[in-house]
Amino acid sequence: MYDLDGLSASELFAPGVGITYDDFIVLPGYIDFANTDVELDTKITRNITIKRPLVSSPMDTVTEWKMAVYMALLGGLGIIHYNNTIEEQVSHVEKVKTFENGFIKRPTCLRPDNIVRDVFEIRDKKGFSGVPITETGKNGSKLLGLVTNRDIDFEKNLERPLHEIMTTNLITAKEGITLKEANKILKSSKVGKLPVVNDKGELVYLLSRTDLLKNKEYPYASKSGSKHLLCGAAVSTKDEDKERVAALVEAGVDIILIDSAQGYSSFQINMIKFIKENFPGIEVIAGNVVTKEQSQALIEAGADSLRVGMGPGSICITQNMMAVGRPQASAVYNCALKAREYGVPVIADGGISGVGHLAKALSAGASCCMVGFLVAGTSETPGEYFYENGVRVKRYRGMASVEAMKAGGGKRYMDEDSEKITVPQGVSGTVVDRGSLVDYMPYLMKGLAQSFQDMGYRNIDLLQEAIFSGKLRYEHRTNAAIVEGSVHNLHSYQTPKFGIR
Ligand code: IMP
Repeated sequence: MYDLDGLSASELFAPGVGITYDDFIVLPGYIDFANTDVELDTKITRNITIKRPLVSSPMDTVTEWKMAVYMALLGGLGIIHYNNTIEEQVSHVEKVKTFENGFIKRPTCLRPDNIVRDVFEIRDKKGFSGVPITETGKNGSKLLGLVTNRDIDFEKNLERPLHEIMTTNLITAKEGITLKEANKILKSSKVGKLPVVNDKGELVYLLSRTDLLKNKEYPYASKSGSKHLLCGAAVSTKDEDKERVAALVEAGVDIILIDSAQGYSSFQINMIKFIKENFPGIEVIAGNVVTKEQSQALIEAGADSLRVGMGPGSICITQNMMAVGRPQASAVYNCALKAREYGVPVIADGGISGVGHLAKALSAGASCCMVGFLVAGTSETPGEYFYENGVRVKRYRGMASVEAMKAGGGKRYMDEDSEKITVPQGVSGTVVDRGSLVDYMPYLMKGLAQSFQDMGYRNIDLLQEAIFSGKLRYEHRTNAAIVEGSVHNLHSYQTPKFGIR
């Protein structure tokens, strides 16, 4: 037995001073395994395990069907936001649950008498660049044409009907085609979209050129018993959302997240009980919480997982505006300590800006990390890229930003009269292009595995055992230590592709 250095978790997170990720460092452990031996399997709820400890946040600039599909394919999970109608949210969930690698089932379609403005709306809202035109405007009816960016980019008349501009001379594939064959056609024909039709010429699927490189094997995919991709969806604590819950369950959702900035309320407890009583097969993520008391109350009401964080988000101004919240590492540790007594995992939500923060969230006791900022610049989020001062960016906004609240996001903040006075708790801004999640997620996970190796633990269970037994050792960081641990003294340097955190 060698002498132990540093502090145990209970000493590091001693009551009185809240600390966050940058305030501490983990001391190295003993390595007797390769970083490729590290397994990152983790519980996201009491009864659901996934292979990668990453969840995308239910925000309207982060998680719609595409993000949820790729999160699940890559081993994580996406939670579909609810800043939309029940029908819209349900259609996102259905797209995830019926997703077959590469084929877009139920693509969004329009009718020939729809107008150019409708295409722009779909492009802005959903980020699609090609819309099939069918007889009834629905998937499953006769395919008449396709409208792509090329058809509308220079179109000034927004009222022009689509039958005047749509491409009708289409390359299509027949139902039953394999993904491999379809990819071959996409490659050789140079088209951006390949509609797949049945014998009657009715649209059944769509394939997209932008997905071509992503149509590969996904060994870590998060799947439910029925072999469909796992999908989560958010609802508010309001009674009216009970109808939303029922519709999401009907659509096949696996996990419902009750989305509230301050989750310790009678409304939330009622909603947890409603879901557990009426839909016992559905796992519930409750929150947000930051204290032991809050955690215990929601778990005793039936929560299967806790979402932890009040104020650490990159777009968040809650702590400044409301004077309530908690530094994130202390919040994660204290909630995890309580939740562990019940076998319930916690999800560290917000404030994660890179690999190091993922590792710190897990080393504070989280089983999983929820991210907004980290993935907001990937091509899987809703919205289009544009240039800001020469940099390719995408919009990213807090759900309590003025813009998101106008679109309905105030529900998370118990904002009953947002029509009259709006007190924002978030901002709206931009984030730089991060490319596709298909490249980014493996990078993040490899970084995390290397961090686990340095800490001396080959999986999350062993790390948690070490945290809560006092075996994992930490130290506080002074401001000087933080400066020392960052790039310094250089005249100039090149930032690696995915940043330096
Ligand atoms: P990020 O990963 O640091 O960008 O934080 C994302 C998290 O911030 C979300 O999962 C929410 O918990 C939280 N959040 C989202 N919108 C707002 C807001 O407008 N104000 C405060 N917090 C927010």
